[in-house]
Amino acid sequence: MSRTEQAAAAFTKLYDGAPDGIWAAPGRVNLIGEHTDYNDGFALPIALPQTTLLAARTRTDGRLLLHSAQGDGRITELAVADLAPGAVPGWAAYPAGVVWALAEAGHPVGGADLHFDSRVPTGAGLSSSAALECAVAVAYDELYGLRLPGPELARIAQRAENAFAGVPCGIMDQMASVCCTTGAALHLDARTPELHRQVPLDLPGQGLVLLVIDTRVSHDLGDGAYAALRAGCERAAGLLGLRALRDLPAGNLAGALDELPAELVPLVRHVVTENGRVAEAVARLREGDAAALGPILTAGHASLRDDYRVSCPETDLAVTAALEAGALGARMTGGGFGGSVIALVEAGREDAVGGAVTAAFGAAGHRLPRLLTATPAAGARRLEL
Ligand code: ADP
Ligand code: MG
Repeated sequence: MSRTEQAAAAFTKLYDGAPDGIWAAPGRVNLIGEHTDYNDGFALPIALPQTTLLAARTRTDGRLLLHSAQGDGRITELAVADLAPGAVPGWAAYPAGVVWALAEAGHPVGGADLHFDSRVPTGAGLSSSAALECAVAVAYDELYGLRLPGPELARIAQRAENAFAGVPCGIMDQMASVCCTTGAALHLDARTPELHRQVPLDLPGQGLVLLVIDTRVSHDLGDGAYAALRAGCERAAGLLGLRALRDLPAGNLAGALDELPAELVPLVRHVVTENGRVAEAVARLREGDAAALGPILTAGHASLRDDYRVSCPETDLAVTAALEAGALGARMTGGGFGGSVIALVEAGREDAVGGAVTAAFGAAGHRLPRLLTATPAAGARRLEL
């Protein structure tokens, strides 16, 4: 049985009848452009082949039933009319939040029976939360005949995560999950997501492999630290008289840093140089030189480690060990404080690099990492049954 058939069969058993359809939404890794989206800046994610499947069927009684193969086995039952921020605990807040955000935006949505089955590792910085949200967004878009453009679905999903689940993320994860395409990275302008561009990226054709190293650590300080960093960036933009840090040209960086209190200097330096690294990465990819991403990734990691200070011993060790084993470049990806590291390696070297990172983790007494390889895959879509 295929995964799609399995999801349909599980749905039928749970809800007594076939689903109206099956949708899939991917996790993502961001190649470069970290902590830039909430500064109205730029990023360059790819969708992972790993997806969250959603089997769904509309209901006419305004009830919303949710079940996950990765959950506790129970069906969560809610009423769409009663959805409110903070009212839904646990994982169900992410998908229920999307229904709430659609209704809040004035779209004519009602209830549904939903069953999720995900292959996106959770809590690994690979955006399983966005995959969950975006699966609901695309399924509701079709089931309720909304026909919203991708960036609008991404905004709805981000609103669910921010306002309903209470996580203050930017829009990159949701844009990646909805708008990525096979064989391309997504050049995202977070101020105007409608202006995103697909940048062709043929890793196998260039003799390259993107190794994803899930460090399996997630430091709890993450959430509060993320909000504090975000607030620091907004304060710096305010002091500089800018709408957002995206509006600070790289040529004006040195002068701007002289005007800022010391604690904001490294934050601003990271954001401005990171936006520059995205532009550089896009230029190299447009020239057909994906290997040139290597040093850009490594420079991005140094900036996150030394200036933004969101790396941790495990992500730093994974980067160092990968580089020592011959990776062309490596960096933490995602918000930080754990999660995953990406390493760009020449095809055929991935086992050596992965083995070296695993050995280094063993020697340091860390839990061993999980390894996968990523090629740019498709964004959220309906699957044929
Ligand atoms: P990430 O998005 O990097 O995986 P998050 O902390 O943002 O990490 O989101 C992880 C959370 O998303 C999980 O703790 C869980 O609440 C929820 N989640 C993601 N996928 C699923 C799933 N298939 N079933 C149930 N909950 C899920
Ligand atoms: Mg997430």
